[in-house]
Parts: sequence; C-alpha cells; structure tokens
Amino acid sequence: MLTFQALTAVIQGREVQFVQPLPVVYLLTDSRKLSQPAGTLFFAIQGKYNDGHKYLSQLYSRGVRQFILEEAANLTDQKLAQLYPEANILCVEDSLKALQQLAAWHRAQFTIPVIGITGSNGKTIVKEWLAMVLSPDEQVVKSPRSYNSQLGVPLSVWQLNANHTLGIFEAGISKVGEMAQLAEVIQPTLGIFTNVGTAHNEGFVSVQQKIEEKLQLFRQVDVLFYCLDYEQLHETVQAQRIKSFTWSRHSKADVTVKSITTTGHKTIIVYTFEQEKYRLALPFTDEASIENALHCLVVLLYRNVPLAEIQDRLDRLHPVAMRLEMKEAINGCYLIDDTYNNDLAGLAIALDLQAGQFQKRKRTVILSDLLESGLPEEALYSQVAALLQAHQVERVFGVGPKISKYAGKFGATATFYNSTQDFLQQFTASDFRNEVILAKGARVFEFEKIVQAFQHKVHGTVLEVNLDALVHNLNYYRAKLNPDTKLMVMVKAFAYGSGSFEVANLLQFHRVDYLAVAYADEGVMLREHGITLPIMVMNPSPDSFAKLKQFNLEPEIYSLEQLQAYVTSLEAGSKYKIHLKLDTGMHRLGFVAEDFEQLFILLQQNPQIQIISAFSHLAGADEALHNDFSQQQIATFKSMAAAIEAGVGYTVTKHILNSAGIVRFPEHHFDMVRLGIGLYGVEASGSEQDALQPVSTLKTTVSQVKKISKGETVGYSRKGIADSDKTIATIAIGYADGYDRRFSNGAGQVSINGRNCPIIGNVCMDMCMVDVTGLDVKAGDEVTIFGPALTLVDLAARIGTIPYELLTNVSSRVKRIFYAE
Ligand SMILES: *Cc1c(COP(=O)(O)O)cnc(C)c1O
Repeated sequence: MLTFQALTAVIQGREVQFVQPLPVVYLLTDSRKLSQPAGTLFFAIQGKYNDGHKYLSQLYSRGVRQFILEEAANLTDQKLAQLYPEANILCVEDSLKALQQLAAWHRAQFTIPVIGITGSNGKTIVKEWLAMVLSPDEQVVKSPRSYNSQLGVPLSVWQLNANHTLGIFEAGISKVGEMAQLAEVIQPTLGIFTNVGTAHNEGFVSVQQKIEEKLQLFRQVDVLFYCLDYEQLHETVQAQRIKSFTWSRHSKADVTVKSITTTGHKTIIVYTFEQEKYRLALPFTDEASIENALHCLVVLLYRNVPLAEIQDRLDRLHPVAMRLEMKEAINGCYLIDDTYNNDLAGLAIALDLQAGQFQKRKRTVILSDLLESGLPEEALYSQVAALLQAHQVERVFGVGPKISKYAGKFGATATFYNSTQDFLQQFTASDFRNEVILAKGARVFEFEKIVQAFQHKVHGTVLEVNLDALVHNLNYYRAKLNPDTKLMVMVKAFAYGSGSFEVANLLQFHRVDYLAVAYADEGVMLREHGITLPIMVMNPSPDSFAKLKQFNLEPEIYSLEQLQAYVTSLEAGSKYKIHLKLDTGMHRLGFVAEDFEQLFILLQQNPQIQIISAFSHLAGADEALHNDFSQQQIATFKSMAAAIEAGVGYTVTKHILNSAGIVRFPEHHFDMVRLGIGLYGVEASGSEQDALQPVSTLKTTVSQVKKISKGETVGYSRKGIADSDKTIATIAIGYADGYDRRFSNGAGQVSINGRNCPIIGNVCMDMCMVDVTGLDVKAGDEVTIFGPALTLVDLAARIGTIPYELLTNVSSRVKRIFYAE
C-alpha cells in the first residue's frame, strides 16, 4: 500500500511537514465529497472558479491528515505547522499535475491491457458497451460515467487494482496540449478513435490539428481501432505509422461492411473478415449506435473471441443512461433513478449526488448485486457497506443473491430480497415517506420496475432541469466577484420556475451566502425542506410576521408603516434581523431620504432590531441606454446607505446589483450581489450569453397526427386555415401548462425530431396543434418547447415578452425532473 512517505518519490514537490506514516487510499479533490477521512489525500486545486485551499481547515477538522498544496497559495510553512500540526503536507507547483503524476505512477504498476478511447462522440457509450461485451472473460475497470477530463482521468485510473484484467478509459480534451498529459496517465496498449466531428471546435485551429492532438493518446499502442471512412483520420494515422485494425463501409479494411439493412427495431449487418462473410443483427437502428457497435465488433474480432459467440456478445448491448435523474415520488419522497448499471465507482457518484442534493433528508438505498468489479466478492461488499455508511444511508434494501449473502455487513436494519420480483411483492408504498431513495441496479435486475412503483403518474409534459448547468452558471458569476463579496441568490417564484427546494438545496451545498424569496410561505417551504441558509423575504405581509420569527426568516422592510407594524409584533428579549430597502429610482418599494429621521427614531426605540443589510434595485441594469440613470441610482444608493450607517451607528451589508448588473457594473458589486435569472441560464444584458449554459428544457409529446385538406381549419375560432393539404400534429401542452396563448397562429415554434414546426391555429388550454407537413412525425414522438436549441431569449422575443415570464409561467402541474450528467 502506498504511504505518504513514498509519495515524495512519485510527485515532484517539497515536503513541508511529515508527521505520521499514513496510507494513501482515497484521492479527494472536491472537499464536499469527503466520505472516509482516514486514508484520504486531499489535492487543493486552484480552478477557474474555486480554490481548494479555502477548505483546508474544514477538512482538517473532519479528520483529513494528508494534503497536497500549491506553492502559489502562499501559506507559509510556519502557518501550516501551526494550523495543521498533525498533517502530512507536500507543496507542489500545480496540484492537478501532481494528481496526474500520482495516477501515472499507479497505472505503471499494472501490466494488463488498457484500452484508451477518444473521438468526438460516443466515447462513453463505446466504453460502457465494450465493458458489456468483454466482461464475460475479463475483470474490467473503467472510467465512471464520463470522467474523461484532466481531473476525471487520473481519478478513473486510480481505481485500478490487482484483480483487474482489463482497463477501459476515455479521454476528452478541449484544446491543444491536453492529450499528452492524459496519455501519460492512461498509458493505453490499445486504442479506439470513435469518430471525427465536423463541428467547429474552439480550442483548435483546424480539424487536422484536432486529429493530431487526439492521436497523441495512441503513440505507444499496439493497435488502434477506427473506421477508415474518416479519410483525414485515416491519412494521418498512416502518416504517423500507427498500427491499426480498421473497419469500413466503402473500402477494403480488416472488417469490411458489405451491407446495413434496418428492419423495424433491428439492423442486419453483413461483413467480411479474413475472406469470410458473416451476418450480424443489432438491437437498434440509429446511425450512432451502429457505429458504436461496429467499434465493439472489431475489438471482439481482434481479440479472437470465437465467431460463434459474437452475436451473443452483441446481444448484451443496451442503452446507456448518460445522466442521473432525480424525480419527485410517492409520499413526499424523491427518487434518484440509476438503473442501468451498478459498479463501485458509479455507486460512489450516485451516493454523492444523493447526499449533496438532500443534506437533511433520510437517505434510503435500494441496491442490486454489483456485477462488474475487480474485487473478490467479500471485499467488494465490505466496501459497498462502508460507502453506504460513510454517506449516512439509513435504510438499505439489497436485491439479489450475492448482496444477500453478505447481509451481515450491512447492519441489522437492512433488508434483503432474492430478486426484484420478491422486492415488489413485499413492497408497501406507505413504508416510504419523505425520504430520498437511490435505486441503483445492474441492468439484469430491471430496476425500472421498482422505479415505476415509486413514481407519480407522468403527465406527458416535463420540465428537465440540468443541475450541472446550474452549477456552471453559479460558478460563472462567482468568478466575477471579489473573494469577500457575498452572493445572494433569488429563488423566488419557485426558483424562476425551476423548483425552489431542489435549487435551494444545490445552492446550500455550493455554499452561497444568502437566499431570497418573495413571500414568507416560500421561505417556510424551504425551511421545511431542510434549508438552513439565511433567507430574506422581500414582501412580507403583516399576517406573516409570526411565521418569519418561527422559521427564522429575515424580512425586507421598505416603509415606515411596515416597520411600525413589524415592531409591534415583536417579543422583547430576542434579536430581529431585517434588510432595509431603499428607493433610488425604481419607484417600486423602498424608503426615501425623507423617511430617515422617523426611521432612526423608530430604530432607536427598538434596539432589538438589527439591520443586516441596506439595498436597492436598478431599474435598467441590463441596458446601456440607461447607464446614466443606473450610475445616478448607484450614487444615490451610496449616499443613502452612508446616511443609514451614520444614523444607526454601525456598518451594514450593502447591495444593489442583479444578474445583469453583476456583468455590467463590476466596480459596483459592493458587499453582496443578488443573482437571479443568470443562474437559470439567461444572461440578461445579452453580451455574455454564450458563457452560460441553458438549464431548463420543457418537453411534451405528440398525441395524434392527422392529415387535413386545403381549405380546412384547425382549432378554436377556426383560426388555423390550411392553405394547402397539410399534416398536423396535436401536442400535449396548452396555456394551462404555461404555454403562452400568444404563440398561436405561427408566432410560436416547437422542435420535433430536430425540426422546427410552427403552431397552427390557437393554443388551447391543454393542447395545441403544429404543422408537420412533409416531416416524419408520429404519435408518441418527443416535442421540445424550449431548451438548448430553442432558446428562451428567442421565443420570448417572438411574443414580445422576456425569458423571465416564459420560465415562471411553466405551471406546477408540469413535472420537474432534475438530472446530473
Ligand atoms: C428578482 C430580483 C433580483 C434578481 O434579478 P435578475 O434580473 O433575475 O437577476 C434582484 N433583486 C431584486 C430586488 C429582485 O426582486
């Protein structure tokens, strides 16, 4: 086992402090994911948006005793010794590089074959599929999910242990210079180049440059697998004299595809290999899956898997869920649906999501046997039990003969079943209440049946919320702030339609400073769901004052009358925090300078009141047109806030900027900013929209498709008139779902199978009709109302409104699904 002392030989760095010999078992780069402090080595990485050095004390107090720090963090050896007397500390130039060095060293301890995969698309699927087709002969270790970055690759490779017989790791890069590092960590002996995308790619000047960079992964491989129909790739591989094993649809290759025929749900492939002709059936028909499967085929042929077995192996292929979904379920429960595969690394990731999203809820895990692992069974289930315990899982349900065999490791309260059917037979819905349930099962256990038992009925329309995009956007704004500027995030109006509790939970996990809601009830709901961050309530009515106190919510106070009413509701002896709203020109809510004399008198009479912050709001932060007015508001705010501080005799937190203001007035962030729409993916000033990621996708389905003749009409008031013969699709969304009636009669468009289709006729309450003439559309097809391809900004412009309205209009009857990649 590797110990800290041995590390210094592997990682180039300076030993600052060595106190005790400790084993290095777990590598940690994200302080929030600490689960087993003993044996953890923490790498403090300074990222674009965050800095691991900020969390050292916290980790130390939770028991971590081994750290890799960066010289640039400027922590003197003396200070470190004082703060962390029991820790082993190594200082390096670059922590990420150190992590890669350690992983590269670890990789070099093993002589097994390792397949490296890169390419524009399909890396993760090819990796998962290869594991499916090769696992009968091999103990496979592979990258969890799509861990293919500079950080993800070393963490993936670290999993390698002596029981594995084959490694499969994917590598993804975004600019020149990155692949050499990943190649050193993976050290592949076999390679797969999945495909070459034509899309413009920012980090590269040309497709050729991208190909050459990616080929660096394969400098040392015994053989590279690829499709030689990618001509530019083929030429480059030949020029570099990399040994290859290829397939093609058009030319002679090691495996030449003679024909591809699709029938119903199957694809029949005829190919030749070593002068013989073979026939193969694949259980899908789309181009991407066929390409991915052919990569798997050539690997099987190269590895001499008996030809008679190939069909059987490829029958194992099934869709790979690329994301973890989280849904509301029966009796106030949440369900994390991860039912496609079950290995140790994937389990750890799912448990992290469960703990991160639901810090305060009871955690339950339903877990099947783990199928692909390099560990002896007993050690495997010991590790699983330890993981569950470290993630504070309260209830465990094991499904399958293997996990049942090791029941003893899971504590007295765990329950075991031989099969999914057994579980379902004994399932009683009322046994599950207000908990968060992770259902994680290997494919053969068909856990989708369990998921169904927990799920609410689905109304065809769903709003999908991408949690990774939310975090990206949060970090984007964070990076604009000075380290001591605080961040308040607006989660009013159901977090702009995205689901207030789920979003608030994520924000709490990512340590924002404050939340704000419009009404007391919204704050109460957050508290009832375990949100402990301070919460400002912007429009508290007198009848909610008691609730504010009961739930520790802080009111915005905007007028003398309101303050008067508030103080009369208070009890002596406690402290009460308030936020003062100042009107600097918006003319909505807020004190004006003339109120101050009275205000100070009232505050003097009520010393139990403590002003936490003074703030105002810009009327035109998003538009240059209003710059002069904004500057004037800011100047007024400064002098009013100064007057408040002088009047009360202490300093308060000052803030005036919303999302657009954060971008446009970096010099006026003051002590705190209030992030709203930007978090949800809309850059309101318009100048930096590309830096944000879209968060929500609203989807529905086609209910019926019909043909109508020229001259017939569609929908209410006969507004949709067919000027020629048409095909019409009725889709399951209407204005009651929040689909604005102004989208009627061609104003709106939806996307079906990648094509934009105009609305025809008036939008109805629960449905509307779209013109799909000439397109291949059938009942059940998915329809995107808005999302990455149909942006909120464009749609809002079409009907003369703003993205805020479209987002917050999505009605509560639309089911929200949250997911992480
Ligand atoms: C809603 C709101 C914000 C956030 O505005 P965005 O434009 O969504 O960033 C900030 N401050 C106040 C007072 C608000 O009501």
